[in-house]
Amino acid sequence: MRPRTNKLVTLVAAIFIPVMAWGGSSEVTASRLNVRSGPSTGYRVLGSVARGTVLETLGPKSGSWIKVRYNNRDAWVHGNYMKTVATNNTTTTSSTQTSYVTAGSLNVRSGPSTRYRRIGSLSRGTAVEVLSSSGSWRKVKLQSGTGWVHGKYLSSSKPSSTTPTSSSSTPSRKGYIQLSNSGPGYFGYYSANRRWGTPTFIYGIQRVARRFKTANPSAPRLGVGDISYMNGGKMSGHASHQKGVDGDFRPLKNNGTEGRVTIFQSTYSRSLSQKMFDLFDQELRIKYIFFNDKNTRHTTPWPNHDNHFHVRIY
Ligand SMILES: [Zn+2]
Repeated sequence: MRPRTNKLVTLVAAIFIPVMAWGGSSEVTASRLNVRSGPSTGYRVLGSVARGTVLETLGPKSGSWIKVRYNNRDAWVHGNYMKTVATNNTTTTSSTQTSYVTAGSLNVRSGPSTRYRRIGSLSRGTAVEVLSSSGSWRKVKLQSGTGWVHGKYLSSSKPSSTTPTSSSSTPSRKGYIQLSNSGPGYFGYYSANRRWGTPTFIYGIQRVARRFKTANPSAPRLGVGDISYMNGGKMSGHASHQKGVDGDFRPLKNNGTEGRVTIFQSTYSRSLSQKMFDLFDQELRIKYIFFNDKNTRHTTPWPNHDNHFHVRIY
């Protein structure tokens, strides 16, 4: 049962022989090989390793002896019972493969387990080149050198926008945070890079959407359009939306759908839209809501606001 043997060998290697990310590697060919504190049989036996175990080799042979890494220390084994392997117990990917960090902050370690020293961290969305694997761990190329990260937190596709409710979201230079593509009671209908706002605004929008959903479980969600860019500034198509305190939203529809609607269409729901305005008014300090249905409260008519309402907060 070949797979089982391999598994056992891997297990033995994982328990006894932490294999580091650098240096060469050799595999034990003897059924059992002593590991010594120095390069001759005169040195103390530190332990022994089983056939198939891969040891990290540290530099050239001394006579017949090879210096290896064993239980986090330098040690020696007889070279007659070792054969060089291309890498340690890792699988080298045929071509380097780009992966993205999905954790908010991912520890980078000097070797493929949590026992290894933390040498840095990578933030969510960072692209890394995966060089090889060891169990669940991936060896990645860093700006200088290499390191190991847990593969669970890597994805071959770029993660979607950060979730602002999690502390892991990356604030912009201006301190804005990004509203995710969707969440309880809301969805974004333009691109995520246009949905950055002040934390007050973003969290407020989320509270409004959540309360609306709770109060109106069968109603459509709040559609969120443009807010601001990551660091504010001029946004195409708008005079405002420059400071993370403006947001465009779709009026609610009365047929359960979430597409575009104007106040002149029969599918426009004044009552649901009004409930949304009321929640905005309760959850945020509203400077104005531009919207052209004159029979709604908390709103101010403004040109071009038939098919969306524009919320500005203080
Ligand atoms: Zn607007």
